[in-house]
Amino acid sequence: MRLVLVGPPGAGKGTQAGFIAERFSIPQISTGDIFRANVSGGTKLGKLAKSFMDAGDLVPDAVTIAMVRDRLDEPDTAAGFLLDGFPRNVAQAYELDSVLGDLGASLDVVLELEVDNDEVVRRLSGRRMCRKCGHIWHIEYDPTQSGGRCDLCGGELFQRDDDQADTVRHRLDVYAEQTAPLIQFYDGRGQLVVVDALGPVEDVTERAIAALTKAIS
Ligand code: AMP
Repeated sequence: MRLVLVGPPGAGKGTQAGFIAERFSIPQISTGDIFRANVSGGTKLGKLAKSFMDAGDLVPDAVTIAMVRDRLDEPDTAAGFLLDGFPRNVAQAYELDSVLGDLGASLDVVLELEVDNDEVVRRLSGRRMCRKCGHIWHIEYDPTQSGGRCDLCGGELFQRDDDQADTVRHRLDVYAEQTAPLIQFYDGRGQLVVVDALGPVEDVTERAIAALTKAIS
């Protein structure tokens, strides 16, 4: 299965991507995670991406596309993959077609996680990430037992720079202007499946897996 996950920041893409990838035994490729790993590792790519990420802007297409092309060239993607956070605009969607065309492949389905803006702001501003293992907690929806430490590994929790209220609002504008048009783009191609992303995580996963199973059968 070759799958793309779209939805506003805070729709739960990362969380759902993990469960869906596991269920269909395909690698989860999250461009945000790859960028963040490069920022932490102090690589050239990380240095280039950091200012865009901190501002809540998109990293330039040429950089992002080259990174995705390299990742999709790796052998573990032969049986399929789940792209989480890419494409983020229509130009990237056309580039994805071209990368897949070169590999003799095409997309099977695009899953949209649908959630309203108020909920997005609530989710993102309460989100805390573990500095050590990357696990995501939420001060209201999924708090740790141990306050400012991760229950899984004891690591320190922090708020991503791009989860601060002002940046969240800017990321939502960027989503509406640049990423939301993808929904019509893929719908027009008959590849779009929409799932309501409100409610308990397990319920959303169940709805997503049912919708995907139906879409590929
Ligand atoms: P995410 O974790 O998906 O919200 O991504 C975090 C940040 O990484 C975004 O706000 C962008 O700055 C950058 N990023 C991730 N994916 C892309 C992409 N496909 N194109 C451009 N920038 C991206």
